[in-house]
Amino acid sequence: MEVIKSVRVMQERAEALRLKGYTVGFVPTMGFLHEGHLELMRVAKRHCDILVVSIFVNPTQFGPDEDFEKYPRDMEGDMEKAEGVGTDILFVPGADDMYPQGFQSSVKVSDLTRKLCGISRPVHFDGVTTVVTKLFNAVKPDMAVFGQKDFQQLTVISRMVKDLNMDIRIIGVPTVRESDGLAMSSRNKYLSREERESALSLNASLEMAEAMFKKGERSADKIREAVTSFIKGHPFTEIDYVSLCDPDTLEEMDLLGEKNLLALAVKVGVTRLIDNRVISGPA
Ligand code: AMP
Repeated sequence: MEVIKSVRVMQERAEALRLKGYTVGFVPTMGFLHEGHLELMRVAKRHCDILVVSIFVNPTQFGPDEDFEKYPRDMEGDMEKAEGVGTDILFVPGADDMYPQGFQSSVKVSDLTRKLCGISRPVHFDGVTTVVTKLFNAVKPDMAVFGQKDFQQLTVISRMVKDLNMDIRIIGVPTVRESDGLAMSSRNKYLSREERESALSLNASLEMAEAMFKKGERSADKIREAVTSFIKGHPFTEIDYVSLCDPDTLEEMDLLGEKNLLALAVKVGVTRLIDNRVISGPA
């Protein structure tokens, strides 16, 4: 596995690969890799000749009171894991290279970023779309793989790629979970044993909601209320949102249709966790 630390070198390498006729697959991450990330890499590997993985903890997608400084980092472990799944190039740009002196440009997707996580994290998605564009410009991939765990992020990036005519295929991968159902996340490391126990209420509430839907419940309010009170019944939890929305537009719904996104953001102790499930069946 080759490690590249500069944007310029990455661009030259990407250009050379393209000239040789190789297809490039790309998995952007913030590191502290877990099975969820590795699954994205395995999927990417099946679709391309050369797999590029980036690790960059992007400061601009964290709000002022968020965990940028203490976001978990483990470069040595990450290198081993990325190499283990067949990563060809690990791209680890420095913050100075990504945001040079005088930086003042951004990429913005409007409506989709004002909903769900965008309400409590108003600068987050502008940071994401800007950094992903910059990473795309460095890696020049044919395809890029993202997790459905960050469903809104995947929706926003798919919209951006379409709107801006970026010639990149976006592939979404289902959420990878621990054996007890907790969605894997680098932030799970922050949870105490008791908090982790309460965090299981997120996935359990998604399952409960799906069971309600399967039994015929179609009122979005009834499902939101049931999910909210279920999660509130667990200690250390503080709900940011429980959304039942259209998976394409992220507009809140009154009545469930054939395809519905139930998305949650919940603080467990000081750790903000997200999870979601697409619930589908006859309207
Ligand atoms: P992050 O390092 O948190 O920025 O995540 C990098 C990529 O991994 C994003 O596309 C995430 O959606 C994806 N990802 C994170 N956790 C999971 C998971 N549990 N299952 C699948 N994909 C994930």
